[in-house]
Amino acid sequence: MSQLTAADLEHAIRNVPDFPRPGIQFKDITPVLADARLFAASVDLLTTGFAPGSVDAVVGIDARGFIFAAAAALKLQAGFVPVRKQGKLPFQTIEQSYELEYGSNTVAVHVDAVKPGARVLLIDDLLATGGTAWAAATLLKRLGAEVMAVSFLIELAFLKGRARLGEHTVRSLVVY
Ligand code: AMP
Repeated sequence: MSQLTAADLEHAIRNVPDFPRPGIQFKDITPVLADARLFAASVDLLTTGFAPGSVDAVVGIDARGFIFAAAAALKLQAGFVPVRKQGKLPFQTIEQSYELEYGSNTVAVHVDAVKPGARVLLIDDLLATGGTAWAAATLLKRLGAEVMAVSFLIELAFLKGRARLGEHTVRSLVVY
């Protein structure tokens, strides 16, 4: 287990103003990934309280969630499952749409990605309005899985995403 803390992660996260659009402060996690100790610490902290074998799958959200979820899956001796943007997965899928400020988005998962009753940990890099994670968690529930927790590296608390995930155990490491 690493000695590094969430404060060390916070120092490494880079703010990129006006990306990808004016007015957005993009939280760039690539400096965390590029540092072996910080990357390991982020995975340790995202999986705190979960022993190896305690979940059947770690589910990652397209695209940066894949990076942390895949590493967490290896650590927890669990499978890895991708939730992807619509149209990216090759096999039969179920889909879930969610509302954005303007319009909507849709995410998808393979119909056989998890077995009914599977215990899953859902991971993404960042919680903003919570729509993406809500849709991913809803897909998992529709497949009969039990979402044990939803873990994020970063939470933008002013966007109130946690409220949208109401029924779930939500944890985040660095809160803005
Ligand atoms: P939301 O559905 O609003 O919670 O948005 C979360 C998704 O959008 C995550 O997959 C994030 O990777 C991405 N995202 C939203 N806002 C930001 C931001 N300021 N910086 C980096 N990624 C973001």
